[in-house]
Order: sequence, then structure tokens, then C-alpha cells
Amino acid sequence: MALIVQKYGGTSVGSTARIQAVADKIIRDKTQGHSMVVVVSAMSGETNRLIDLAKAITDSPSDREYDVLVSTGEQVTISLLCMALETKGHAARSYTGGQVRILTDDAHSKARIEKIEDEKIHADLAAGRVVVVAGFQGITEQGHITTLGRGGSDTTAVALAAALKADECQIYTDVDGVYTTDPRVVSNARRLDSLSFEEMLEMASLGSKVLQIRSVEFASKYNVPLRVLSSFTEGGGTLIVSEDKVMEKALISGIAFSRDEAQLTLQGVPDRPGLAYHILDLIAKANIEVDMIVQNTSVAGDTTDFTFTVHRNDYKKAFTIVEQAAHTLGIAKVSGDNKIVKVSIVGIGMRSHAGIASKMFKTLSDEGINIRMISTSEIKVSVVLSEKYLELAVRALHDAFDLA
Ligand code: ADP
Ligand code: ASP
Ligand code: MG
Repeated sequence: MALIVQKYGGTSVGSTARIQAVADKIIRDKTQGHSMVVVVSAMSGETNRLIDLAKAITDSPSDREYDVLVSTGEQVTISLLCMALETKGHAARSYTGGQVRILTDDAHSKARIEKIEDEKIHADLAAGRVVVVAGFQGITEQGHITTLGRGGSDTTAVALAAALKADECQIYTDVDGVYTTDPRVVSNARRLDSLSFEEMLEMASLGSKVLQIRSVEFASKYNVPLRVLSSFTEGGGTLIVSEDKVMEKALISGIAFSRDEAQLTLQGVPDRPGLAYHILDLIAKANIEVDMIVQNTSVAGDTTDFTFTVHRNDYKKAFTIVEQAAHTLGIAKVSGDNKIVKVSIVGIGMRSHAGIASKMFKTLSDEGINIRMISTSEIKVSVVLSEKYLELAVRALHDAFDLA
């Protein structure tokens, strides 16, 4: 008998009919003799609706109340799913994150899970109940409700699977696995049978929102076999496991992209020690994360150019900070662009093959796409482009690397 943790995303529980269908699916798996722990998201669109309600009251709600509000969506689905299971004759019990005691730090709206108390869950499973847990939420030691960041139900599921030493963590969503790229952008994208934790981590960090980054970090750290599948169709989905278990060793596994980018460029920056630190320290103090950083070598004279990227939501704030500091720091000009995107190719095969980056650049050049910034690591190459080239670039690279 296996212990399985399943997670159903927003679309999968998007209506009462869908919740009934999910209940039927859980019953089928339970009837096979498995112990079932199920994590659910809020019904699709609900978290956005809650965020809009907050915005209608204030631009800057307190962190604590924001989490009290946005965590409520999941409380609706846990209870409805348990009602559906009970009506169908199966014992079930719902828990909010706080009731389980999914303990987190106090970084509201992006809290990290620190510990999960598993006694109640084990007792329910032993009594033959299906345990249904609200995703995306936890509680601090002091009893304040926290949330784990958008897409956080994935992380709840993987963290529970790790804590309970589950045999597998299954992420049910609206696509039947992880694809070579977002199938909504490239129609001939191909589903991958398996993928390493490391590649999935890169894909998720570089914008593939099919799994929340932290869920993959957890799975990798605790070696939880993670499977992404469809709650709408049958199939084996994509298994994400350690590198040695991956069958398919492709040169490039996938293409990730992110539309949430913005770039700030500082021209005429005095070329002296501490300048990069001073600029980025101001940004960090405002709690803004910096992604790519490029500084040119000063060819002639004593000034250089300095460019960095931030999340598009932080663009205005970052621009104001840099503009205000420009005079004191002796920076000549600040400019920026929030209509940029990042496109990345990812694959562990890159470690042992040269020429991947140049093939990427040639493909983009053949399409007349100008590259603004480049960043590489062992298993990825990322480029920053104008927003208008996103679809073209992803499709061209998908073809060029024979991913279909
Ligand atoms: P859920 O609500 O179930 O958590 P998400 O919307 O968070 O679902 O994630 C599923 C979506 O991820 C898909 O509908 C798809 O558009 C998107 N996606 C992005 N990149 C990929 C990829 N490489 N493979 C599969 N899906 C992807
Ligand atoms: N409901 C939350 C969100 O929309 C968490 C999740 O679905 O994973 O981000
Ligand atoms: Mg999701």
C-alpha cells in the first residue's frame, strides 16, 4: 500500500462539477489500496479575485491582513471536496494549513515552510480517512496566517510528501505533463516523460509556471519523486526525479520564458570601487530582487554603463530609487524599459557540449531578433529581448533545437 500525496490546481477544482470529478478520481486511487493525502488550490480565478478586493480598499494592505484574505480561497475547496467525498460514502477530513500546523517563517505572502506536524494526518490515514489539506498557506509560531507565494499549493504538496515520506507526489493540473515549452505558446511542444530535478528547477526559475520553484527545491532536497499529470485526461504525465534516473538525456530539454521582466540602465557611472554595491544595496533595501546584472568594461575614460533587470512589478519603484540616488552617486543618466522578456534554453546536455549558445544566437539573428542581454550557467543560456519578439523567438528556438 502506497502513501500518495496529490495536488489539484485551480482549474482542476474550478467548479463543483470538477470537485465531484476530483472526488471520484481520489476514490478510484483509494480503492486501489493507497493512503491518500490531497492538497487543493482555490477555485480558478479566486485568488486573483481576492487580491482585487484588497486593491479596491488599499494599495498597501498590511502583510498580515493580506494573507488572512488571500488564504481563504483554499478553505472553500477543502471543505467542498470533503463534502463530495463524504456524500460518495468515503470518510474525509479537511485541514487548513494552521490546523495541520504547517509552520512557516513570518515572511508574509512569500513564507517558507519550516516544519510540518504530521500526527493528525497519520491518525486520520490510520482510520481510513482521506486527508484534504489547504494549499498555499501556513502559520507562524505566533499563530499568524501566512501564504507561500503564487503557485504555493505545489510547495504545500511536496513539503507534505517529504514530511510524510510519501511514495510519490502527484501534481494534477490542466496540462498532461511538463512540455518542452509552454504548450499554449508552441502548439507542437512535446511532453517529456521524465526530467531531472535540476532541469525542472531551472525551467521553473526561468519562468515555466507549471510548478512553483520552491516545490522543486523541496522535491530535490528530500528526493521526493514528483509527477505532473492532467486531472482531465488519463496518462503517465512527466516524472521529475534525480538525474541518474532520467532515461532521456537530451542536449536541450526545454525552453522557458518570462514576461515579467524590466530593465534599468545607468549610463556614465563612475568606474570606481563600491559603485555596483551602492546601487544594488539601495535596491535590496527596498526588498527588490535583482536578476541579471551587466556592467561594461570602461574602454576609454573613467565611466561605465551598468544594466540590471528586476520583476516588472518592481520597475517603477526601482526606477525612482535609482533616479533619486543618481546625482549623489555621480551617475549621468538613468533609463529603462519594462517591455522586455527573458527566453532561456535549458538542458543538462549543455555541460558536455560546446556550441549551444552560438546556435541559439544564430537562430535569433536569422529571425532578425536583437539580443539585449545574455546570461549563462552550466545548464542554461538566457537572453533578454524586446517583448514583441517573445513568441517568434520561442518558436524559432523550439524548431532549431528539434524539440517537437
Ligand atoms: P495549476 O492551477 O494547476 O497550478 P498552473 O497554471 O499553475 O496550473 O500551471 C499549469 C500551466 O503551466 C499550463 O496550463 C501551462 O500553460 C503552463 N506551462 C508553462 N510552461 C510549461 C511547460 N513547460 N510545460 C507544461 N506547462 C507549462
Ligand atoms: N491559489 C494560489 C494561487 O493562485 C495558490 C495555488 O494555486 O497554488 O497562486
Ligand atoms: Mg500552479
